[in-house]
Amino acid sequence: MHTPVTIIGAGLGGLTLARVLHVHGIPSTVYEAESSPTARTQGGMLDIHEYNGQLALQAAGLLDAFRGLILKGREATRVLAWDGTVLLDEPDDGTGGRPEVLRGELRQLLIDSLPANTLQWGHKVSGVRALGGGRHEVTFAHGTTVVTGLLVGADGAWSRVRPLVSSATPEYVGTSFVETYLFDADTRHPSTAKAVGDGALLAVAPGKGIQAHREVGGTLHTYVALTRPKEWFAGIDFTHSASAAARIAQEFDGWAPELTALITHGDTAPVLRTLNALPIGHRWDRVPGVTLLGDGAHLSPPNGEGANLAMYDGAELGRAIAAHPDDVEAALAGYEEALFARSAEAATEAARDFGLCFGDDAPHSLISLLTGNAPPA
Ligand SMILES: Cc1cc2nc3c(=O)[nH]c(=O)nc-3n(C[C@H](O)[C@H](O)[C@H](O)COP(=O)(O)OP(=O)(O)OC[C@H]3O[C@@H](n4cnc5c(N)ncnc54)[C@H](O)[C@@H]3O)c2cc1C
Repeated sequence: MHTPVTIIGAGLGGLTLARVLHVHGIPSTVYEAESSPTARTQGGMLDIHEYNGQLALQAAGLLDAFRGLILKGREATRVLAWDGTVLLDEPDDGTGGRPEVLRGELRQLLIDSLPANTLQWGHKVSGVRALGGGRHEVTFAHGTTVVTGLLVGADGAWSRVRPLVSSATPEYVGTSFVETYLFDADTRHPSTAKAVGDGALLAVAPGKGIQAHREVGGTLHTYVALTRPKEWFAGIDFTHSASAAARIAQEFDGWAPELTALITHGDTAPVLRTLNALPIGHRWDRVPGVTLLGDGAHLSPPNGEGANLAMYDGAELGRAIAAHPDDVEAALAGYEEALFARSAEAATEAARDFGLCFGDDAPHSLISLLTGNAPPA
């Protein structure tokens, strides 16, 4: 009745769950809205932490394969003032516990680790309905349905499964990111490439910041942060790349040209990423036959933990189901109890970190955070 476990969403959380279930001999089906693994670029690097993401990969039996994906040197961190003055420069000496990988490569590793037919691409969930007795019916946009005795919402921020357990919805955190890329920067934008260095660059001030990361070779991936109402961003025409980039850059008037080049010289159209969060401490009463993981359960402002937490949730849920093969409710109850405590702590920390990055005392508060001198969350 409970298998295959029905997982909605092939993000890092859902895939880790499917893989850990597979390691324990439990079949699952993952329904994913996107039409194929390559339907959307999975841009960006993720630092995968020893205390959550790497533990999940260990449970998935993929730690060695993961190590093969690590981009060496990318743990380096530089904090620059608005005028380009270097405030902190921490090279990657190979001893850090947060190695960087490309999100797309990590996702592909998980996809390749699953038996054929586990993944059902092009299955966008349009509705879910309780049938009683812990069973649920899932309806897909193309009209088909499945009925399941164990449903997991791993479908991210705007989860279609979440309403079965909770009425909470994400709310705007007050800050948005604008994403840009510079390619071949060592040759085409040497001073900017030098400012970014081998790993991450953070140049922040109250209510704004430029965060860039060196990906493979000379690719610089930037998130420009601005604390502004959603309406302010709505007034910018992002379909017109040059004017949108110019308008965003205007907010950084007077900043060092090697920093603003990350905005004005972008090789791709600037993309607005509105940031939302669920309430800190989001939880729900046990509903038979269904649970959530990852962003669907505890979406928070980005502080480098979200993907790690989603993977950890997936591994923990997989282990809990494997430990209670005849009592799924005991598995879900135990999983959720730990999830709620862990997520509340992580969400509190994410809100604190976000404030330290872009709050009134930035960049000094950011440096305190990076050097381990920030006040507790
Ligand atoms: C700008 C930005 C930068 C970030 N940087 C980092 C970082 O450096 N490190 C880090 O750890 N975290 C980072 N995060 C957070 C991280 O991206 C998320 O926390 C993580 O991806 C959550 O994983 P997930 O599996 O829960 O959900 P997702 O990765 O969102 O996956 C959900 C999946 O469900 C699918 N789906 C959605 N709706 C449906 C539907 N109706 N039917 C079927 N499928 C559906 C989606 O297509 C997707 O494949 C960042 C977030 C943002 C916004």
